[in-house]
Amino acid sequence: MDGSQLDFAQIRAQFPILQQTENGQPLVYLDGGATSQKPLQVIEALDRYYREQNANVHRGVYGLSERATELYEGARETSRQFLNAKSIKEIVFVRGTTEAVNLVAHSWGLANLKAGDEVIVTEMEHHSNIVPWQLLRDQLGIRLNVLRMNDRGEICLNALKSQMSEKTKLLAVTHMSNALGTINPVKEMTEIAHSFGAKVLVDGAQATPHMTVDVQDIGCDFYALSGHKMYGPTGIGVLYGKEELLDVMPPYQGGGDMIYSVTFEKTEYNVLPYKFEAGTPHISGAIGLAEAMKFMQSIGLDRIAAYEASLLKYATEQLKTIEGLRVIGEAEHKGGVISFIIEGVHPHDMATLMDQDGIAVRASHHCAMPVMQHFNVPATIRASLGVYNNKSDIDRLVASILEAKEMLL
Ligand code: PMP
Repeated sequence: MDGSQLDFAQIRAQFPILQQTENGQPLVYLDGGATSQKPLQVIEALDRYYREQNANVHRGVYGLSERATELYEGARETSRQFLNAKSIKEIVFVRGTTEAVNLVAHSWGLANLKAGDEVIVTEMEHHSNIVPWQLLRDQLGIRLNVLRMNDRGEICLNALKSQMSEKTKLLAVTHMSNALGTINPVKEMTEIAHSFGAKVLVDGAQATPHMTVDVQDIGCDFYALSGHKMYGPTGIGVLYGKEELLDVMPPYQGGGDMIYSVTFEKTEYNVLPYKFEAGTPHISGAIGLAEAMKFMQSIGLDRIAAYEASLLKYATEQLKTIEGLRVIGEAEHKGGVISFIIEGVHPHDMATLMDQDGIAVRASHHCAMPVMQHFNVPATIRASLGVYNNKSDIDRLVASILEAKEMLL
């Protein structure tokens, strides 16, 4: 078995939802970019937690609470290993990528930025990595600069170099674009940003389901991920931050678990990473996320990447045989996302008809409206691949498009 081959039948069998039909047709799920489906391993861990292990964490002295704490903290260690962070102090559990970016904007941003400072975001960012910086711009008077992409959907490193200056304090960049599939050279971008003294936040929402991520190798200061995009539950994610930065950042929210002691005069905050985890955390979510990471590791992240690369190649070739179909986003380095439009057909009409064939694709601006503006389209149809998809899913996608096109044109 070479790197691009998987024991596909065995993997697919682990996703109960994919055994069901939609509108009388076997479900073809091609919307992992919005949220992935969940393997039995994750579903069973959640079930087991609520049947046998549920208690609040950290403060209980009884066995059940201690075991729940062990599982929750074990999930932190699994996340540390998954990202290759140096320490569990650098792993903060959050609701997802959106909350992670807002945490950095609010805590690091408010403490470190002042009027006239610059934050650079790329033109292909998800709204979650644009709007928090706009809120900060309006609050602090910082400048938000946009690093443009070319018409293939790629960022040019020289353009980044020429846009950086000593005023740039942060580069906020997506590792993989949800609307285009572009995988950005975040390691090289981090080196450039650091050479100007700026910090780097990487939005890893789309990258973590598809490839090995090593935050020490990338060298970034912050890295955000969402559990639900990577075969885990909704409502849980990770903010990785370098310990020396998190250590001096003020808390993001106040409440239980983030405190060491409270009087009405003064509160002392807890140590890392608890300083950033106010309130009862999403315990089952963290446990489910860890299980999802183990699921991916048991297949092998590099093997997943190779498998999806060959599927992406097949899908792109097949889709391009359709007359009037234009692929949006043709970066040389791409992950398993294909955005496209079909001349004369509105993406929403097409996707609605495809649903009748049991095909789940997204027709939207994908929360990346500036990307749509760049390509001068209102929306695209997006097929996003996961480890549970295969060539037969792609064949059904193509057949369904051809059929829908006949009806709409
Ligand atoms: N960034 C990217 C690139 C995304 O694809 C998404 C989700 N579509 C987000 C951020 C936001 O993630 P979440 O909704 O899980 O917070």
